[in-house]
Amino acid sequence: MNFELIIVGGGLGGLVSGIILAKEGYSVCILEKNHQAGGNLQTFTRDGHKFNTGLHYIGSMDEGQTLHRFFKYLGIADKVPLKKMDDAGYDRITVGEDDTVYRHAMGWENFSETLIRQFPEEREAISHYVDSISEAIKSIPLYDLENAFSYHLEPHQLNLCTMAFLRSLTKDERLQSILAGANSIYHGAAMRTPFYLHACIRNSFVNSAWRISGGSDKLAGALLEAFTDAGGTLITDAQVDRFEFDGDKISAAWLKDGRRFAGKHFISSLHPAVTLQMVPPDRIRRAFRQRIESLENTAGFFTLYLVFKKDFFPYLNYNHFHYYSDDYFRDLLPDDQWPHTYLVYTPFYEESPGFIPTASILTFMGYDDYKQWDGLAPDQRGQDYYDFREMASQRLLNAVEKRYPGIRNGIEKYFVSTPLTFTDFTGTPQGSGYGILKDCKNPARAIVLPRTKIPNLFFTGQNLNIHGVLGTTINAVITCAEFTGFRYLVNKIIHA
Ligand SMILES: Cc1cc2nc3c(=O)[nH]c(=O)nc-3n(C[C@H](O)[C@H](O)[C@H](O)COP(=O)(O)OP(=O)(O)OC[C@H]3O[C@@H](n4cnc5c(N)ncnc54)[C@H](O)[C@@H]3O)c2cc1C
Repeated sequence: MNFELIIVGGGLGGLVSGIILAKEGYSVCILEKNHQAGGNLQTFTRDGHKFNTGLHYIGSMDEGQTLHRFFKYLGIADKVPLKKMDDAGYDRITVGEDDTVYRHAMGWENFSETLIRQFPEEREAISHYVDSISEAIKSIPLYDLENAFSYHLEPHQLNLCTMAFLRSLTKDERLQSILAGANSIYHGAAMRTPFYLHACIRNSFVNSAWRISGGSDKLAGALLEAFTDAGGTLITDAQVDRFEFDGDKISAAWLKDGRRFAGKHFISSLHPAVTLQMVPPDRIRRAFRQRIESLENTAGFFTLYLVFKKDFFPYLNYNHFHYYSDDYFRDLLPDDQWPHTYLVYTPFYEESPGFIPTASILTFMGYDDYKQWDGLAPDQRGQDYYDFREMASQRLLNAVEKRYPGIRNGIEKYFVSTPLTFTDFTGTPQGSGYGILKDCKNPARAIVLPRTKIPNLFFTGQNLNIHGVLGTTINAVITCAEFTGFRYLVNKIIHA
């Protein structure tokens, strides 16, 4: 088969890129290795219970807010059923044995006033924090569409570290932790998380935070429909194995099962190191390949998918993040303290708004803990792996039970995923949750641009810039702008 544009990977990055360029008249084919497209947006079903693979909330979906504007342009803004989270505390944070529950409230004024009530001496620091976020996002590509003329981040943005900045604001360690907490710093690398990344994520959710009602596959479904409506072709069960070259350009993608798809341009939404494994050694400079392959990845997720007895666990209209200690934010993560953090996530279903049948508990896991099984097929990992999973499950449940006494009594059964489950499912190397780690201490190293050294191969997906639904959507726009022109595409989004 022959297409103008072939996209490798049908997760969020691939689907958004596919919609944009199909709308622009390209004949686009997405090749997705799994039976269903969606990647991290997909859900799975076990014993009749549906679970989100990972995604628990999205931000900035009120009319006129950033993600809403992108989704409106993509034609899906009114096609994704949403449930607004609790504006008095959509994220709630606890630390160690302390019973205090800290809240991140929606809307910047609400956010400040809520924190000031808990840290009355820190009004000035909190207000400075809020001002700094709104200043930072002004120079982040595509957050301010009207003033976006380039996708490059300013060097001073890349170098500013989140924790160093928070320490310069206040000496109150607990406030530093609460401002840093709730998924806006990297696990195990808080000290290296750039402030721009923190600012994007924090701003996106403070603007407004939403659950996808009925499961995250509703978002995958809406994207898929928009893609096919725009004339795109999706081929599933299509694992790309290697690229064929004609001169210095790629001429076709070969699937593992021997099928060949010819194309003029290629976009890969996979991790760049995985993409380069598909390129023969003599087609790309060794130095470039080595740089990409040596990039550090973010930690992976270990998740418990719980099934509750009837009418046992209430729907929580917020996420609960727990940290073992303020030391978490100094990257002091002793092994015997695992799980160092966890997130309790309850999905929203219109039909069961009171008590919920399922919930997920997510934590992070360091690569060293599971690397002995990396590279092995699931059926080759052996009993040790399953024993390890069970041991980790019990440790996580012990930690959760301290905050939710008696929770074990209400659990009918549970399912488990490790970071390697994500490698099996999305192909992410080392089971990494958010892909390449962006490091404020060495920012130039982790920069991955959409253009590659191969003239007709482009990168997109969460590894490019910022992860998450908003970040990956923006990355897709940045990649597609290489085809359409930057301002042309931005104007289309503005006027959608
Ligand atoms: C556990 C977890 C929880 C998260 N929670 C949130 C959240 O609450 N809010 C938020 O905004 N973001 C969240 N994120 C981040 C967000 O989900 C991701 O940033 C985003 O979905 C990444 O999309 P992607 O297209 O880059 O990658 P992926 O979703 O990984 O898509 C890549 C696709 O490529 C396919 N593929 C891989 N190899 C091949 C091959 N050889 N040939 C063909 N296809 C291939 C995969 O099957 C997959 O479909 C979470 C991520 C994780 C892991």
